[in-house]
Amino acid sequence: MPTTLTFIGTGSCTPEADNDTACFLLNSHVLIDCGWCAALSMLRRPDEPDATGLSDVLITHCHHDHYMGLASVLFYRRMQRARLDEDAELRIYGPAEDIERVVELARAYLQVDRFSAVQTTPEVIPVAPGESFRLDGLDVRTAPTQHPVQGLAYRFLDMDTGASIGITGDTGYLPELAEFLSGVDTVVTEASAGLADPAPGSTSGHSSARQAARLARASGATGLALVHYPADQRQEIKAAAREIFPNTYLPTYGERLTLEDRFESYDEVERNWGWPDDHP
Ligand SMILES: [Zn+2]
Ligand SMILES: [Zn+2]
Repeated sequence: MPTTLTFIGTGSCTPEADNDTACFLLNSHVLIDCGWCAALSMLRRPDEPDATGLSDVLITHCHHDHYMGLASVLFYRRMQRARLDEDAELRIYGPAEDIERVVELARAYLQVDRFSAVQTTPEVIPVAPGESFRLDGLDVRTAPTQHPVQGLAYRFLDMDTGASIGITGDTGYLPELAEFLSGVDTVVTEASAGLADPAPGSTSGHSSARQAARLARASGATGLALVHYPADQRQEIKAAAREIFPNTYLPTYGERLTLEDRFESYDEVERNWGWPDDHP
């Protein structure tokens, strides 16, 4: 099976009518970040499992747009429990400073102590930036980001296919990340700052389109998927990033990237991007 990355959402901090906040499904069972409507958004791809098919959720950082959908994913799974493997509780990885509190608050919101039907005890694994771990078929490394809360950039190696994907979550431009992501097939990063580079020394913790493209170029990645940017600047952001890194894509809601072959050229990225045919 090829490595797949499905863009469950690609938006910024609040959802739009036709997009969820940024979160991604790797190889149909690992969810990276949990957008506002992740359980619902996962139903948009009938050829992918719904949230009952998740083995792991990996949170990049505990800002609301990256974990808001956690309670509804847990609720959905309990309501679909006839289809769940009861022995396989969801594992939730996230920044060591915040993840246990956020999962506990999601359980509190579900009132698990009051409603036994929604009782859910996911396994929570706090991760310090720089730690590595293994998931089924995946080698996972992490690195610190530059953001107002503790963040984890993830680097995945699919041990079955050899494909590699880096997902930074929200981050200001950080030269060290280029080293961390060195040689990956695809970098997924953000461009919240849009067209203007944040001033030197800025602590906003977000990148511009050009900084995202510089990161991809410096890492030697083959492709760049830009997400989490101001939607009204989409065309300008794409053009600005492609000036620096031509193999830049702005995936849309529900789109799936299949890393069947190594991308050698822009045309190949376009062909392999697969869905929908008329990529805007
Ligand atoms: Zn965010
Ligand atoms: Zn954030």
